[in-house]
Amino acid sequence: MDLDFTDAELHRYSRHILLQEVGATGQARLRAARVLLIGAGGLGSPLALYLAGAGIGTLGLVDDDRLELSNLQRQVAHDTPRIGRNKADSLAETIRRLNPEVRVEVHQRRLDAEGAEALIPRYDLVCDGTDNFETRFLLGDACHLLGRTLVSAAVLRFEGQLSVFKSHQGHAFPCHRCLHPEPPPPGLVPTCSEAGVLGAVTGVMGTLQATEVLKEILGIGESMAGRLLLWDALDARFRTLTLKRDPGCPLCGDAPRIRDLSAHREVTATACALP
Ligand SMILES: [Zn+2]
Repeated sequence: MDLDFTDAELHRYSRHILLQEVGATGQARLRAARVLLIGAGGLGSPLALYLAGAGIGTLGLVDDDRLELSNLQRQVAHDTPRIGRNKADSLAETIRRLNPEVRVEVHQRRLDAEGAEALIPRYDLVCDGTDNFETRFLLGDACHLLGRTLVSAAVLRFEGQLSVFKSHQGHAFPCHRCLHPEPPPPGLVPTCSEAGVLGAVTGVMGTLQATEVLKEILGIGESMAGRLLLWDALDARFRTLTLKRDPGCPLCGDAPRIRDLSAHREVTATACALP
């Protein structure tokens, strides 16, 4: 581990280095880390800002979407003059202004099976900040099969949830399909664009996600792997549920039937075949 820091780095990260649980070794670990963020929106905004501020060495940003006026109520790493710009590109600009020490890799694309296979192995850890089940299930499957830890969060209306999945490390940990074996039928669970979301709720959940990413890289505290955090902003109450591995799980069970991403390729192919 390279423990050589410039004076500017020591100054910038002094409040981290003061923490016994982080120190210079932990800060060096953050600098050596490569983290991939899928989605540069409501969760991605605070997530990217805190990871950049923390001095993660390399941040990869994946988003093919363009910034719209209705995004700015919660996607606060962007700003009004940037409407119309690609979100990954805009978020990269904000990160560089906050912390020029961070290397930013912009991937202006929607995450499909080919993209997941090409990008995920190039990073140490993956964060899910997407808003649709198709990408969520693709990411969960891809991270398990490609051996990467996934820090996942979701928001809707006044509620948020968060978990960490590292089922690739063995049977002690459940995967995302132990919780939900299959995605819900299209239209059953509304999206934020259909049901709305309180902007600040995405801020809280994205910040919690950043905290869990830092804990995983530093190897400190209690991991959220095997636990699901639920937050109801209206009740102002957090609850934590224990998640158990399901031996019958289609992905990480004793006789898994999902062994590659071919099902996700078929979904994309079918979607593309429609007029
Ligand atoms: Zn599983």
